[in-house]
Amino acid sequence: MRAVQETRDLLKTLRPSLHDDFLSVGAPFDYDIPELKFRLQGTQYSIYDEAIDAVFYRSRRSGSIVANNTYLSSFAYNVAVVWAAFGHEYDRLAQGEQCSLATLLRYNLKKFFAEQLLVRTNSIFARGIFLETLLYEERVMRPLFAAAESHTAEAVRHEFFSNFMSSILLFHEVGHMVQDARADFETLLLEELRRAGGREFSLPWKSYTEPLQIEFRCDTLAILSGRRLAPAEMPQDFVLRVTAFAFAVCACMIGLEKSAAATARKYPGDADADLLDDYRNILPGASFVIGKDETGLARAHSAAAVCEHLARADGDGSELFAGSEFPFRPEMIDGLAAFTLNTVDVADPEVRGLCELLARAFGGNPRGMRYLRLRSKVFLMPEDREKQRARFQIEERGISTQQH
Ligand SMILES: [Zn+2]
Repeated sequence: MRAVQETRDLLKTLRPSLHDDFLSVGAPFDYDIPELKFRLQGTQYSIYDEAIDAVFYRSRRSGSIVANNTYLSSFAYNVAVVWAAFGHEYDRLAQGEQCSLATLLRYNLKKFFAEQLLVRTNSIFARGIFLETLLYEERVMRPLFAAAESHTAEAVRHEFFSNFMSSILLFHEVGHMVQDARADFETLLLEELRRAGGREFSLPWKSYTEPLQIEFRCDTLAILSGRRLAPAEMPQDFVLRVTAFAFAVCACMIGLEKSAAATARKYPGDADADLLDDYRNILPGASFVIGKDETGLARAHSAAAVCEHLARADGDGSELFAGSEFPFRPEMIDGLAAFTLNTVDVADPEVRGLCELLARAFGGNPRGMRYLRLRSKVFLMPEDREKQRARFQIEERGISTQQH
């Protein structure tokens, strides 16, 4: 137990912004992964931290420490819920049409971008777009979650998305541990891919530098491990499409996170930066940076290729991206990334004007903004999840009773 306290203290030193309430109790782990001839040992924590950098630490004294950050995975989860309901509208989104998919995606991406700005800079613009999502757009997400609560099959799926999104990030970090311990990591992955896909897999990452190749390898391990989490009755092709989608969303979010960092760098210090030139009318004139993360996108394409390869064990692989339940095709990776460039667009100038007024009124009140940020989320503790699960089981039984 003393060792666990020590790793907890170390984690707090490494992540000074991490609030005590958002650091779970440490759980020592000891996993055997026989197919990779590898045994994993260390301590795992669940954290909630808006800083989305490293989540894996090696300490000579305390061993491997994994900090599973639910901040990023909870955004990815929300976007997965949106996609499950409205992914079929993708072609309309790609053509720039207004549709539920565009509205809901923009809301989630804008909220993420705004929060990433607010962590770094005290700007009226960041507060303005955050308030837009909170006061005027948040309500569009609520019916989706409410619908799931009254519908067991959807609730089970949502629970899978939630577990899956955080696990895939966690398994990526596990990949780094394997990478450190095994010089033949890539050979082991290739063998596993040949076995699982029934044929050779040609690695899409060989033209990258070694540090980047490590990221691709860890992603691949995450895919191989993550697909085992799905409930047995969930179709494999559905799980693989969710997987490919998860990497595409992460690429978009990394792009937005880097954009927020680049914007903040232009306004160093505590000054209440006013980036609101033309904020109300022509948004591109407002002073912020937004771009794509090309490496993240290359990783998403690699992940889609791995998923397609794995689908071949059951067919020729081409059906994977033709499935209509949770529709996803590789070209959507770049389509989604292009969509993120319009994240800050708004349809209603009146709303924008009101948010600008409020953003100015919130000047000098960072605690108030932090309160609003936390207030806009639902935090589930492990015991809440247990309760939720128990409720689903009761409902399932209830339904089967009615049927008989
Ligand atoms: Zn990594």
